[in-house]
Amino acid sequence: MSKTNPYLQLDRRIVGDIYTSQEVMENLTVLCDDYGSRFAGTPEEYAAANFIAECFKRYGLQNVTLEEYPYAGWTRGAATLEIVEPMQRALHCISLPYCPAGDITGELVSAGCGSPAEYSALGDTIAGKLVMAQSSSPPDLGRWVHRKEKFERAVLGGASAFIFVSEHPGVGPETGSLQNDRAAPIPGISVCKEDGEFLLRSLARHGKVTLKLRTTDINEPRTSWNVVAELPGRGRHRNEQVILGCHYDGHDISQGAHDPASGMVSVIEAARVLSAYTADSLKRTVRFIAFGTEEIGLTGAFRYVNTHADELDNVRFMLNMDAAGGASRKGIVLHQWQKLQPFFEEAAGQLNAEVPVGQKVHSYSDHFPFFLKGVPSAHIGDPGALPSGRGFGHTAYDTLEKVKLENLRAASAVGARIALRCANADDFPAKRRNLKEVQNIVDTDSGLEGYRISLKLTQNPAG
Ligand SMILES: [Zn+2]
Repeated sequence: MSKTNPYLQLDRRIVGDIYTSQEVMENLTVLCDDYGSRFAGTPEEYAAANFIAECFKRYGLQNVTLEEYPYAGWTRGAATLEIVEPMQRALHCISLPYCPAGDITGELVSAGCGSPAEYSALGDTIAGKLVMAQSSSPPDLGRWVHRKEKFERAVLGGASAFIFVSEHPGVGPETGSLQNDRAAPIPGISVCKEDGEFLLRSLARHGKVTLKLRTTDINEPRTSWNVVAELPGRGRHRNEQVILGCHYDGHDISQGAHDPASGMVSVIEAARVLSAYTADSLKRTVRFIAFGTEEIGLTGAFRYVNTHADELDNVRFMLNMDAAGGASRKGIVLHQWQKLQPFFEEAAGQLNAEVPVGQKVHSYSDHFPFFLKGVPSAHIGDPGALPSGRGFGHTAYDTLEKVKLENLRAASAVGARIALRCANADDFPAKRRNLKEVQNIVDTDSGLEGYRISLKLTQNPAG
């Protein structure tokens, strides 16, 4: 059955250009090889922000600005982990972002993969101990249990330190922040799967294992930047906006090629082709945002929704393209906007590409501050994906050569064509939620269980 596609002529130019250009891979190479991890607070992060701004200007975007903001900075220090009983052994470990400096000796306890059930079975036996949890999610739970939730359950149980263990062999320790935009209340470190298995065997064989952990990280205020640019809409709806965004900061131990840079360059590529072919025909403004400091707290996105609070009523839709140019399917995962399902299914039909549409929400990327403000939002991803680990993500091995040009092109094309439809459709069946409607979802959605645990910790003055 053939479907009518009112955007066919523009689609052909957009897709034709993307699939005959190398520009997206060239931009990825600069971000990864010239600016490295672009970790929050480093000169490389600032240089990357300026590079992105230059791209936006070169592609003809307007109002290109770096929006500066302060945040709780963190600098990695050396970390050492030793078994002191029943044998002496030093293990390789790394601090996790927002780890405080500390010197702790205590008993090891395993919380398995750190699921709610495993923590509640341990009860108050974790108090004063070093709690170890693997990165995997229990298959029967039906949702991803994020590192931060595992850490926060350990803190709430009175643990003295947290040890995060990768579930993947051969990729070393997996990093990821302990808190959002604040120093963590207890130290948290990461070890590779192989050392985690050794610790588990030692516990099973000896019954008791005593560890000594020393961390030397520095928590101090820093500055970061969001890069904002736009293609202005024409006519009477030009005050309304569609936002395409992705963060550009990576974790300090890798290039962050897949997460986030593959998504960041896809946003830049979407900006390039939309500017080239739709600049005269956009009914609404398309705004492009490169967010800073996502990896350690979604800080750039939280900052953006606060400083642009008076514009949020005019944001028709926000599409988060975090890591979108990786291997995952390029679907539209709506953040519980059932009324938008038919709109995006029709759009996906017009795209004539593999673009599954579904509903799911989580609190671990830059769409979340927009979600909390009630703005209609989605991210590019696979709505049918089962909870799974990050693989080489958040490890030293998230590097440029693993990203495929085909995936960058697919993500760029979906981002550009979806933005065009959101900007130009006369009817868009979603309105900004009021805070009560948002609260309802926050209180009940199973995907936001980790966020509810976070609130327990941050709202508890002792936390
Ligand atoms: Zn990311």
